[in-house]
This record gives sequence, structure tokens and C-alpha cells, in this order.
Amino acid sequence: MNPELDGIDFAATVLAHDERHYGDAVVPPIFQTSLFTFSSYDEMAATFSGKLVRPTYSRGLNPTVRAFEEKIAELERTEDALGFGSGMGAISSAVLAFVQPGDRILAVEHLYPDSFRFFEVVLKRFGITVDYIDAGDLAAVERALPGRKLFYLESPTSWMFQVHDIAALARLAKAAGAVTIIDNSWASPVFQQPITLGCDLVLHSASKYIGGHSDVVAGVVAGRKELVNKLRREVLPYLGAKLSPFDGWLLLRGLRTLPARMREHERSALLLATRLQSHPAVTRVHHPALSQPRSKGLGGTSGLFSIELDPSIDIPAFCNALKLFKMGVSWGGHESLICPAGVTRVQTGGPNHALRFGVPERMVRLNTGLEAAESLWADLTQAFETSKT
Ligand SMILES: *Cc1c(COP(=O)(O)O)cnc(C)c1O
Repeated sequence: MNPELDGIDFAATVLAHDERHYGDAVVPPIFQTSLFTFSSYDEMAATFSGKLVRPTYSRGLNPTVRAFEEKIAELERTEDALGFGSGMGAISSAVLAFVQPGDRILAVEHLYPDSFRFFEVVLKRFGITVDYIDAGDLAAVERALPGRKLFYLESPTSWMFQVHDIAALARLAKAAGAVTIIDNSWASPVFQQPITLGCDLVLHSASKYIGGHSDVVAGVVAGRKELVNKLRREVLPYLGAKLSPFDGWLLLRGLRTLPARMREHERSALLLATRLQSHPAVTRVHHPALSQPRSKGLGGTSGLFSIELDPSIDIPAFCNALKLFKMGVSWGGHESLICPAGVTRVQTGGPNHALRFGVPERMVRLNTGLEAAESLWADLTQAFETSKT
């Protein structure tokens, strides 16, 4: 593959081409099997002793899942990757591989709500402390880093879509001896490759853009071989959150159109966000291309952004009036969605991120799907009209 190609062109070429598959199939077969048998005692012993690498049991290595992992490693321009049964499986496994009781973690504010709850509910139980920081303030980050085992990043952040200087943050973490892990779900590997900016591990909720069709829950972690191997050996077999063969196949299928979908999400979301910026009912638009200087590492923008609505709009009525934007969690699929901050602010079942970090009450998050952008705009316009108080 030509490494000189730019982000999206590189991804497009990587994703359209495979090595030969079994029987010259153009799509990898689904190895829907839990175990693989051995032809002899010697072969089994060689595999167990590590002399031979071949599938034994699908909680460890499965060829369909492996094909997906290799594509992600290539897209993230790194050496290795590991597929998980969910984004949270990837996040909890990656973090747990590096921490022990007494350790201190630094994390960015406005991280994904369940990442926050994993830190607060699970890690605290093991005597691990987590502090949250505005990663836009590099001097504050530099002061807070010494003594940290891990620096957990997300850029752009959830709900607020703050873009950070990933290269600078990774440099500070390296100087302080902290491992950096970054959630790259929003940009997808098409628009941002954090390993090239100096991060140690990059992870995704593959349930979002990588899958892209709202039909699979999955995750993936990528990085240098040595670090991914640490996860493979020390956490994956015991936490067991392994990606399944069929879900791996769905993700490979989703990946084929990732660059084309991202181009469309970017174009439509920018059109909507730009018009919303001058709409009288909208007080603020949080979209990385509009609200802040473009980060050097971010090669494009995706379809998820948020807006704050003027008090003249009845937010429940606005949500109810929308026809194409359905109400729901998640994002990154073909269908447009709206998620109001008001419902997350009353969410129970653990510490509340929206209250903790201050997600504005009059904010709604929009996921721009693959419908025609003008139809989406017409939907928003009619909902503004019918929800005026
Ligand atoms: C959805 C999401 C996750 C969690 O992924 P799951 O696949 O739902 O477990 C992690 N990070 C971000 C930014 C997300 O949006």
C-alpha cells in the first residue's frame, strides 16, 4: 500500500483490497467456530508452547476477527489491533492492562459517559484514583501529569466536541512517563490516526462509524505490537470481551464503505451546522470545524455535533416534531438521531457525567445520517416552527 496517500485516500485503497482469501473468495469467510482441532500431538504441543501461531479457540484467535484487526491496524498506521465485543470491552480491557491498586489516572473532561462511570464505579473500588482535566489547558495538564500511570484522552470529546492538541498532550505524557490511550470513535481512523501523533494506544467503539449500519456492538484497540500483546496476554483471556466472528465479518463489511460514508457525513453535518449557526432559535453550535481552530491531526469532521437552543423553543416538542431525526442513543449509523441533554441529566444508574461536567441543559446532540442533507434541513426547520413557545 502507498503510505504517501492522504488519510481518506489511503483508507479507501486499504479497504478496497485484501490478500487472497480461501478459495479466492473476494470477501473473507465467517469462521463461525468456537474451536480449531489439531492434526497431531506435535502440532498441538507446538501451538501451546508458542512455536506455532494458529487458531485454537475463538476467545483468543479467530481468522475472521483477525482480518478485521489487520485492517484496523493498517488504517491507524500501526502494527497490531485487537477486536472486542463492545467499545466498553475495549476501554475497560485497555485501561485494566496498565493499572494496579494505588495508581493515579488523568482523564479528559467530557469523556464518554460510560468510560467516566467505569472509572468512578469500577476503578475506584480497586483504590485507583482518576482526576479529570480540561485538556485544552496544556499548562494545567503538564502540572497534573507527574506520578500518573495513564492519561486517558478523547478528542473531540463527547457532547461538547472540544478538539485537543493530541500531539502536544502525547508529548507531555511521554515526558511524565504516562501511557496514553485515546478514544478515536468520533473521527474514525479515516480522519484521525492518533498513533502517528504520539499516542500509545488508540481505541474505538466500532458500534459507531466503523460498523456504520447500527447493527453491531463492538470495539477495537490498536497500537504497537508490544502493547497490544500485553492486552492479548494479560487481560483478553480473563476478561473475555472478545469480538465474535459474525460481528467481525459485519465490521469488515462496514469498513468497505467507511471513507465514502465519512465524506457524506462530513458534508451533510457541515451544511446543517453552518445553517444552524445563523438560525435565530440556536444560541450555540458545537461542531469541531466551526467552534474552534482545526487541530492539525484532524483531517476531517464527522456527522455528530450538538447545538444549544434558545428559550423560545420547547425542547420536548422539538424532539417530538422531528420525523427523520429519531430519538435515540448511539450514533455513526445510516440514520439521523437526536439525543437531548435533558434526558441524560436525569439518567440514573451511576454517577451522572452531564451534571458532573456540566453538559448544558438546553443542548441537543444531532447525529447526521445518510439521508439527503436538504431533507434533514427541512425536518429541522419544520420542528423549529412547531415547537415555538
Ligand atoms: C459508544 C461509545 C463508546 C462505547 O462503545 P460501545 O460499543 O457502546 O460499548 C465509547 N466511546 C465513545 C466515544 C462512544 O460514543
